[in-house]
Amino acid sequence: MKVLTRVKSVSLTIDGKKIGAAPGEKVLWAALDNGIYIPNLCAIREKREPFASCRLCFVEVEGKDTPVTACTTPAAEGMVVNTRGAKALRLARTALELLLASHPVDCAHCLRNGSCELQVAAKHLRVKLKTKTYSKILPELPVDSSSPLFIYDPNKCVLCGKCVWVCQEKLGRGTIGFAHRGFRRMVTTFGDEPIGRAGCQDCSECVTVCPVGALAFRKVT
Ligand code: SF4
Ligand code: SF4
Repeated sequence: MKVLTRVKSVSLTIDGKKIGAAPGEKVLWAALDNGIYIPNLCAIREKREPFASCRLCFVEVEGKDTPVTACTTPAAEGMVVNTRGAKALRLARTALELLLASHPVDCAHCLRNGSCELQVAAKHLRVKLKTKTYSKILPELPVDSSSPLFIYDPNKCVLCGKCVWVCQEKLGRGTIGFAHRGFRRMVTTFGDEPIGRAGCQDCSECVTVCPVGALAFRKVT
């Protein structure tokens, strides 16, 4: 006889809503699974150790003095989470404004206009995409149009790392990776080959995970 094992879950409250989550599930995924949006650019559910690099997913947890990142915090029994706390929102807004200071915002001419996670996060956090909080410094790198399937515009890259993880860890290919440090840090191919000549054939998994218009499918005309 087949024995059914009951999946245990913890109960927590997010923004006043009582929800259940698998033990060890991160607060970010527990919230998203229950229709509660928390801004995020770099989170990948399958990745065991979160990048936690975009710093957009700050939330406040009852009993903790400082906000925590929802992508790294496991859901726990009885936890009370507030995604709208002033301290958490201030940190997330600052992170977004710093990111936008090096981002060429031209949504009207961008392939991801309307399906861009940066737009969603900015709307949620009430930050103008063309914010002037910090002085604008743009990378001004050449756009790579060598692939017949997609465009790679490194200027729009938010360095989330998702494409690199998919290519290196999930697919085991290693065609793309990070190069350089600091402001010059960017995603590139081995030997800086144009991405269309890097031997990817028809793989475009990196494009499907890019949250912004840095890796974007060409429009079918
Ligand atoms: S990547 Fe997003 S925010 Fe940037 S120009 Fe494109 S649509 Fe606008
Ligand atoms: S190209 Fe896209 S997926 Fe890759 S690091 Fe940049 S923003 Fe992230």
